[in-house]
Amino acid sequence: MIIQLKEDISEKQKASLIQEVNEIGYKITEVKTQLGDYLIGIGKKDFDIRKIGQKEGIKDIHIVSDEYKLVSKKWKVKPTSIDLGDGVYIKDGDMAIIAGPCSIESEEQIRKVVSHLKENGIRMMRGGVFKPRTSPYAFRGMGIDGLKLWYNIARAEGIKIVTEVMQVSQIEEMYPYTDIYQVGARNTQNFNLLDELGKVDKAVMIKRGISGTIEELLQSAEYVFSGGNEKLILCERGIRTYERASRNTLDLNAVPILKSKSHLPVIVDPSHGIGIREFVPQMALAGVMAGADGIIYETHEVPEKAYSDGQQTLDFAQSARLADWIRKTFAMRKTFELL
Ligand code: PEP
Ligand code: MN
Repeated sequence: MIIQLKEDISEKQKASLIQEVNEIGYKITEVKTQLGDYLIGIGKKDFDIRKIGQKEGIKDIHIVSDEYKLVSKKWKVKPTSIDLGDGVYIKDGDMAIIAGPCSIESEEQIRKVVSHLKENGIRMMRGGVFKPRTSPYAFRGMGIDGLKLWYNIARAEGIKIVTEVMQVSQIEEMYPYTDIYQVGARNTQNFNLLDELGKVDKAVMIKRGISGTIEELLQSAEYVFSGGNEKLILCERGIRTYERASRNTLDLNAVPILKSKSHLPVIVDPSHGIGIREFVPQMALAGVMAGADGIIYETHEVPEKAYSDGQQTLDFAQSARLADWIRKTFAMRKTFELL
C-alpha cells in the first residue's frame, strides 16, 4: 500500500494515521522524496482502502501488491521524465543517445570523443573512470582526476556525463562532475550504494544485474526511490545465460515488460549486451523497436587500441551511422505507435 501524504499534514495527524494503519496489520515505512512524502505499508493484502481513505492529511492511497511499489506503474501512471538541463532529457516518447568509450583514457581521447559527439548531435557521453574489471591486473580507470578533466572538456561543449560509481565513498567526490551516476551490473544489488544514491539529487541509471531478474532490477530501483531520489533510469545490458557465443544475452523482452510495470525510463546497452562490435548496431535498433527510451553504446576513435571493451566498441564512422539509424528507427516506431 502507498499512502501519499498532503504537504500540510501535521505530525499529530501522521502519528494517528500510522497507528491506525499499524493496527489494521501493515508495517509502515516513511519515505520522503523530492516528489512528496509517502507511507509505504507492507502486510495485509485484502484491505478496503475506503476504511482510511477519508482521513485527514491523505492526498491519495493505492494498493500496490508488488514487491516494488514507488517505481510501479500501478500508482504513478504518468511516465517519469529525467531532465538533465539545457534541453537534455531521458523520457518516454523520446530517444536518448548516450555514447562514449568504455574507459576514459586521456585528454586527447576525451577531446576526440567529445568532438565526434558534437558533430553528430549527441548530448550525453558515457565513460568509466572507476572501472569494475574481472581481472585485478586490467586497467581500472583514471579515477577522480580523469573525471575532472572530462568534465572541463565536456561542459564547455554542453555534453552531459554518464559515469559509473562503484562505492559509497565516491558519490560525494564525483557529485560536482557527474550528471548521471551509473550503477554497474556488478553493483545492482549493492544495497548500501543504492541507499546512499537515494539521498542524492542527481539522476541514477541502474543496470540490470549480471544474473538479475527483471523484478530484482525493479527492487533495486525501489531502494533508490524509497531513499528519496526518483530520478531513475533502468538499463537492460544483457544477462548471463548458458549461451557462450555472445558475451551476454541481451534480454530485449525486458524492455516492454519493464515499461509496462514501471513509470521509469528504460534504456538498452547493446555493447555489453552482445559484446561483438559488428552486431552492436542491429541489437541497438532492435532495442529501439522493443520500445526503449534510449540507447547507450561504446565508441572510440580506434577501438582496437581501447583500454577496455575494444571488441564491442564502434569506431566513429560506425557510431555516426548508428546514431543516424537510431533516430530513423525511432521515427519509424513512432509511426507504428500511431496505428
Ligand atoms: C560499462 O558500462 O562499461 C560497464 C562496466 O557496464 P556493466 O556494468 O553493464 O558491465
Ligand atoms: Mn564497457
